[in-house]
Amino acid sequence: MYGKIREHLQNELSGIREAGLYKNERIITSAQDAVIKLDSGQVVLNFCANNYLGLSNHPELIRAAKSALDSHGFGMSSVRFICGTTDLHKELECQIAGFFGTEDTILYAACFDANGGVFEPLFSEEDAIISDSLNHASIIDGVRLSKARRFRYNNADMADLEVQLQKALDARFRIVVTDGVFSMDGNVAPVDEIVRLARKYDALVMVDECHSAGVVGETGRGVTEKFNIRGEVDIITGTLGKAFGGAIGGFTTGKKEIIELLRQRSRPYLFSNAIPPAVVGAGIRMFEMMAETSELQSRLHQNTEYFVTKIKEAGFDIKPTQSAICAVMLYDAKMSQEFATRLLQEGIYVTGFYYPVVPQGAARIRVQLSAAHQQEHLDQAIAAFKKVGNALKVLQ
Ligand SMILES: *Cc1c(COP(=O)(O)O)cnc(C)c1O
Repeated sequence: MYGKIREHLQNELSGIREAGLYKNERIITSAQDAVIKLDSGQVVLNFCANNYLGLSNHPELIRAAKSALDSHGFGMSSVRFICGTTDLHKELECQIAGFFGTEDTILYAACFDANGGVFEPLFSEEDAIISDSLNHASIIDGVRLSKARRFRYNNADMADLEVQLQKALDARFRIVVTDGVFSMDGNVAPVDEIVRLARKYDALVMVDECHSAGVVGETGRGVTEKFNIRGEVDIITGTLGKAFGGAIGGFTTGKKEIIELLRQRSRPYLFSNAIPPAVVGAGIRMFEMMAETSELQSRLHQNTEYFVTKIKEAGFDIKPTQSAICAVMLYDAKMSQEFATRLLQEGIYVTGFYYPVVPQGAARIRVQLSAAHQQEHLDQAIAAFKKVGNALKVLQ
């Protein structure tokens, strides 16, 4: 039986390899941090993790996780509505709502699940979902699972959004959906404008804050802080897997009735396990830390500004960024791979992205800054970029 599909799979795999699209995974043998060790023994500076606040290996979170492990055990062995809800889960949900200034929160195993389970229970044939063209794959999949009509607008293009809103005027309910930060470019969605248009055309607004929560806004409260529109976004989804500790877990936070209905009808919530107490305990400590100080945000913002300024001065072509993502444009796919390989030889770990992850002819190195980066890490990375940039003749 397997023989027939095996041949087919082998062909598919060699097709991926021949197209140069095969994804190899590097193996890390240390904890996730600014400095990591690879299985080759090489110690490198990490500039490609979503570890924006440097919390992935933070002693406070490790302590909180161990403490929850001791008090509440290892696993929940249950979905939330049967016997998977602890006092810790409720506390974390409450803290997330407090952080974003929303009414209630529902936890998921991941933001992929939060996005996968948010549309189908709320919207049907009579409704319209209007989605940014660069939205994350999990939003695209979530929209597909609902029966609502679909409209797409060009990335962050408010004139096009208005056209789509007009097309959807006959729908019962309309919702505009956007990523907060677009992860390949680092630009922030113009959520203030989106909210204004949504008001004009009587639509709801949903923002996926995976790359913006903890990062954007002076104290990291995300796009609603940046645009001073706290409480004006109806649905926010996010992850505990990036800035917020980087382990696992996702959430939807927003209007009370929306969250209440999701608890009743959202399939990834109803049919998937509760996240483990250690992760929840660390999450609680993490949000306490966010409430105590925005020191990590300050450091992240300083690091980003420093890196971006220096890399521009060096003559690199970068995408305008308002987040902790800096896209260094090289345009050519092979060049992006060569560049990343040479940077690794210099001890700088970054990833080169090219089609189909980014548009054809728009290959780049994506650099992700972290509060965990020390001044010398940044200087080392900038020096390596200059050296490789000169060698490969890409500086302007
Ligand atoms: C990473 C990411 C997700 C998925 O989050 P997980 O918690 O890792 O499943 C969803 N949306 C966006 C915009 C993301 O960047």
